[in-house]
Amino acid sequence: MKVLVVNCGSSSIKYQLLDMTDESVLAKGLLDRVGIPGTVLKHEPVGKDEVVIKKDLPDHTEGMKLVLEVLVHPEYGVIKSMDEIGAVGHRVVHGGEAFAYSVVIDDRVKQVIRECFDIAPLHNPPNLMGIEACQALMPNIKHVAVFDTAFHQTMPAKNYMYALPYELYEKYKVRRYGFHGTSHFYVSHRAADLLGKPYEQCKIVTLHLGNGASMAAIMDGKVIDTSMGFTPLEGLVMGTRCGDIDPAIVFFIMEKLNLSTSEVNNYLNKKSGMLGLSGVSNDLRDIQEAAAAGNEKAQLALDVYYTRVKSYIGNYIAQLNGCDCLVFTAGVGENGIDMRENICKNLDYLGIKLDPEKNKVRGKEVDVAADDSKVRIFVIPTNEELVIARDTYQLAK
Ligand code: ADP
Repeated sequence: MKVLVVNCGSSSIKYQLLDMTDESVLAKGLLDRVGIPGTVLKHEPVGKDEVVIKKDLPDHTEGMKLVLEVLVHPEYGVIKSMDEIGAVGHRVVHGGEAFAYSVVIDDRVKQVIRECFDIAPLHNPPNLMGIEACQALMPNIKHVAVFDTAFHQTMPAKNYMYALPYELYEKYKVRRYGFHGTSHFYVSHRAADLLGKPYEQCKIVTLHLGNGASMAAIMDGKVIDTSMGFTPLEGLVMGTRCGDIDPAIVFFIMEKLNLSTSEVNNYLNKKSGMLGLSGVSNDLRDIQEAAAAGNEKAQLALDVYYTRVKSYIGNYIAQLNGCDCLVFTAGVGENGIDMRENICKNLDYLGIKLDPEKNKVRGKEVDVAADDSKVRIFVIPTNEELVIARDTYQLAK
């Protein structure tokens, strides 16, 4: 069976077509600026030249139509007809408390995705648009929702509850959910394979360090804690998000800077983090370059970044009462050699010892721990699309 994996943002559609007989990728691509002038599709068929198509498209349905057209195109397509697509897997950011696993999409599932609009206003509406566009174009096959929150649903209440009046949880489901679940799931399972131990017997700390960043602590095959919370704003320092701050800062800056609620939301999500602190960029490479050239704020941003990560490592190892491995993944985790070194420095008391020579690696699955390190330190490139495709295949076949 061939499975199409779709990830819809407010103005973008990312896709990947996989052949599940051998889990090979047949094509992938990105349609950007959907609904805004300058729509552009970058289509990468495996074994053929990349194609770029510029064509303004008003909405996700027209966008998906173009994606299907290029997939069956006689020249740069990879299948003969749309009938070869056996199922579609959709990345959905928020499943609330309803879904701890992936599900075949029906009206009830769509209703839950809709009910989460309030708590995931940037993500769930375009995710649902993508689902409805695909269902309209491919009505006779199964569509599966794979939720970013699902893997974290095993967290115990002592870690997902905030110390706020209980009625906030009862009335509005204000609690910690966690995100990047599909990535934490994939890399933690790969890590267990590399350890050669049953997953249920591993104590794992996963570090998904991309533009958005989160960590998870995994024990007995379950997530017991994760750093993102009610929204993806909590936890680590990110490209443009502040991560953990004293909540009193929110009303302080609203007053001082005369900001509305949506403006303060934008301030903390888009103007803070590494960008806000360094004043240089949200991209770690730019910040490292600036720091190397003597920019003190850039150096400070890097120091704050890795110190926050270290504090979560300590937190999670304390909760796990031990640790078999750390797993670095996503843009910074897979490529940030200096960042990995700084994060792991001076953690030998916890049995964490990185080998600087082995650590000189980018984007490959390797163990970068010193031979005598008690805790293994893996770099594992994430593969969220593969998890989505596998779940979709299992539920559709
Ligand atoms: P997203 O959350 O957008 O999917 P990615 O996982 O692609 O993000 O990660 C993007 C981040 O990865 C950027 O901040 C970038 O600085 C960082 N990154 C990519 N390559 C390198 C590198 N060679 N060294 C350090 N950081 C890198």
